[in-house]
Amino acid sequence: MSRDSRSANTFALITIAWILTLVFVMTPFTYAQRTQFKEGRNIFTPQQDVELGQQVAQDAEAKLAMLNDQRVDDYLNRLGRKLAAFAPGEKFPYQFKAVNDANINAFALPGGFLYINRGTIEAADNEAQLAGVLAHEIGHVALRHGTSQATKAQLAQAPLAILGTLLGGRSTGSILARVGAEFLADSVLLKYSRDAERQADLVGTQILYDANYDPRAMATFFDKLEGGGRGTDFFSSHPNPDNRQQGINAEIGKLGSVSRDAISDSRDFRRIQQYVRSLPAAPKAGESQSQTSSSGKIYRPARPSSRYVYYDGENISLSYPDNWKEYETDQGLTLAPEGGGNETGLAYGVTMSIFVPNTGGRSSVGLREATDQLIQDLQRSNSGMQVTRDQGTTRVGGKTALSTILTGNSPAGGRERDWLVTLMLPEGLMYIVFVAPEQEFPDYQRAFQQVLNSIKFYN
Ligand SMILES: [Zn+2]
Repeated sequence: MSRDSRSANTFALITIAWILTLVFVMTPFTYAQRTQFKEGRNIFTPQQDVELGQQVAQDAEAKLAMLNDQRVDDYLNRLGRKLAAFAPGEKFPYQFKAVNDANINAFALPGGFLYINRGTIEAADNEAQLAGVLAHEIGHVALRHGTSQATKAQLAQAPLAILGTLLGGRSTGSILARVGAEFLADSVLLKYSRDAERQADLVGTQILYDANYDPRAMATFFDKLEGGGRGTDFFSSHPNPDNRQQGINAEIGKLGSVSRDAISDSRDFRRIQQYVRSLPAAPKAGESQSQTSSSGKIYRPARPSSRYVYYDGENISLSYPDNWKEYETDQGLTLAPEGGGNETGLAYGVTMSIFVPNTGGRSSVGLREATDQLIQDLQRSNSGMQVTRDQGTTRVGGKTALSTILTGNSPAGGRERDWLVTLMLPEGLMYIVFVAPEQEFPDYQRAFQQVLNSIKFYN
């Protein structure tokens, strides 16, 4: 052993001894530190979170079946604001509204606009469980997951004009005008990664603890939802991180013992729950005014019609089944049966857009590499997505394209198949994703192939 390494080892031993001393001295007096969080990369300002949230909220409320019951909303705001007072970070102007939907779910828009399905109030065993769901949603807002997701999506694939607008500090109104509130809400703001979910769980647990609610209630409620029985979409919009309940319990351990007077229930909650249960039943999905953007269960749409209609875009033309609709944004085009998706994503149909690959300083990247980058990006924002088959090359509109089969979690529940077709255009990598639930994919295969065959480019 050389002299140098001996002295290095001596130094290491001293350091370890010192750390051990600290640990022994401190352990009896302090609990482990609560988990700290760093906000993700974000090109929005907190004020823009509020502006963006406000505008998407308007759009969402126009489409959702709102409960519009002052008594219920007042209660949710009392409970929610009590919790939000303990949220870390920016003090957002939180507001809470009930949605007339029997499905157990909740969602939060940037800046603090929270929506809670009445089914969540009806299903909770006590106030602490409802508080657990609210605290989790508040966690998403406080950590600014929506705009952090949007940042990632924008940086990865936004037309540069939009990025320029964002960075130029122009109002969020112009961003929305370009991107479309619906697109943002559908595919970016509410699509959380498992990591974001884990963070929202832990921040929510801290909030519950600090507000003197029994923090174990959140895990208990998730257990209850996993137990099934009643309809829930909670896990499709809030994908389960690994060992969700254990993660929550470990955080409780770090916070210290649960106070004996921690609140688990209240008369206020009991009364509101009884009242909500006494209201006329929520409209069934078919009667709901909302379709592609609605929250809630996706029902199996009619099979693709064999009659086709013609779509003529700026650079592209194609044909699609006449019982599908066009949903067009600056970001791309979606063709889908009505009700073929919800705010968590598309379950039936086809969506196409442009992905700008990272060239890493080179003048361009090839089709294969750009496709690999895209798939990685898709996997980051769609947990559970896997490549199942590389189908090699094909031709689309006279251009060479790659065909790949992936599977992922369907917003309709269960697994879906995604047929990804990619090709290079001057603007970047064009990607076309045909989506249907795994079992129903064969029913769609022919229509998908026909749409693909019909594609023509103008340049
Ligand atoms: Zn969540």
